[in-house]
Amino acid sequence: MVPTRFREGRGAVTDASLIERKAQLPSVDRVMATDAARVAAETYGRTAAVASVRASLDEIRPAWLAGASVDVAPERIAAAATLRLEGAEQPSQRRVINLTGTVLHTNLGRALLAEEAIAAVTAAMRSPTALEFNIASGQRGERDDHVRGLLRELTGAEDAVVINNNAAAVLLTLNSLSEGRETIVSRGELIEIGGSFRLPSIMARAGAKLVEVGTTNRTHLSDYAEAAGPDTALMMKVHPSNYRIEGFTKEVSARSLSPLAREKGVPLVDDLGSGVLVDLSNHGLARERTVQEAVADGADLVTFSGDKLLGGPQAGLVVGRADLVKRLAKNHLKRALRLDKLRLAALEATLKLYRDPDRLAGRLPTLALLTRPPEALKAQAARLLPALARAVGADYETAVTDTRSQIGSGALPLETIPSGGFAIRALLGGSSALIALAAAFRALSVPVIGRIAEDRLVLDLRALDDEAVFVAALDEMTRARAAT
Ligand SMILES: *Cc1c(COP(=O)(O)O)cnc(C)c1O
Repeated sequence: MVPTRFREGRGAVTDASLIERKAQLPSVDRVMATDAARVAAETYGRTAAVASVRASLDEIRPAWLAGASVDVAPERIAAAATLRLEGAEQPSQRRVINLTGTVLHTNLGRALLAEEAIAAVTAAMRSPTALEFNIASGQRGERDDHVRGLLRELTGAEDAVVINNNAAAVLLTLNSLSEGRETIVSRGELIEIGGSFRLPSIMARAGAKLVEVGTTNRTHLSDYAEAAGPDTALMMKVHPSNYRIEGFTKEVSARSLSPLAREKGVPLVDDLGSGVLVDLSNHGLARERTVQEAVADGADLVTFSGDKLLGGPQAGLVVGRADLVKRLAKNHLKRALRLDKLRLAALEATLKLYRDPDRLAGRLPTLALLTRPPEALKAQAARLLPALARAVGADYETAVTDTRSQIGSGALPLETIPSGGFAIRALLGGSSALIALAAAFRALSVPVIGRIAEDRLVLDLRALDDEAVFVAALDEMTRARAAT
């Protein structure tokens, strides 16, 4: 049977060779009768297989009718349709190998979860859970109760509320405490971070009136004092996550601002951004003020992310004074910004790891990756160098190199960590050959993402989470090159 769409149009086609070529193009049914198409139908379902065969025919038809030499054997078309189905089966959000040198890469999904958190998420996915149910009383419970106690214990704060992300935490805080009223912020802290988080815009959305004080480089306690008036609802400190103002500067610390806020009777909010719960200097990294310190310094509310240095799922955490937390929890926005059971399960499991700080670096992938010694990374690179050299071929020069990683996501923006990896240089073709190589790495089944620095493609091994997968990617590249 010849499907309607392959039948000759009403006299419109007069060219005999065109008619002949149309007739030579196999029908969908003929392609579906091949062994390959039968396998595809079994694997992906008949509907999807037929649609894919049709799409494959549609793709080659114009070139074929124009006289190009195209292989139109039914087996070939069935094979093309199968490839198309395989491609469509790949998740859009694919696994990648992060060799960018940025451990908490926002575009690559930030923190990798600990096994304990993964197990908790899997369990919560499979079964009903006591998400908002008090098992002892049989009454309705609060979803945030699963982490409130832990957050109190770990941060020293009176209470806590958790939502979608830290941007939501700032939005909810400002809307709950400063809607229609003023929030005082230093001009040096009016941040914009990636993904369109701009403090003035969030303030406007929250309905808070921004009162800027000081100058870009210098803000004094007296600036806050003079700006505070009857309409002041909040004073706010914001961590300059992705820049640093240096030179002739003056900043008022949260600790110095806190007594003034108290005197004026307004809460002080400290947006930490990354939010660490451990002293990073104990792990050989530069110190970053911890959440506990921010609480102890007198901030009434502290906001931070779940998926930055905390090493958990995407979440926004607010800890602080119980009366203020209650106002946030009661805001209707909280309902729109709340966490689902999966992320709450991951967050609870992640926070529990902090009860055992001695084993934290072994269990929390973010900390494990950040603390890998550069010598170990260089030794790993030396071991993998032959496989890399085979993969890229003789047109490129490969070498083990010292490099510098970043934490990423706004934590210690100017600090870099000594690291190790590969530097690849194109022997021919200059920067376009390097760009082509970077694209070839991205085209692998598990894409390898590096960074181009000057005339090198740098692959930093710090954030490599699975060596075997990287080796398989290199082997795939070697085979692909041998086949062309
Ligand atoms: C990262 C960051 C945010 C936004 O946090 P998300 O979890 O990405 O929403 C807000 N404030 C500061 C200071 C940050 O560093």
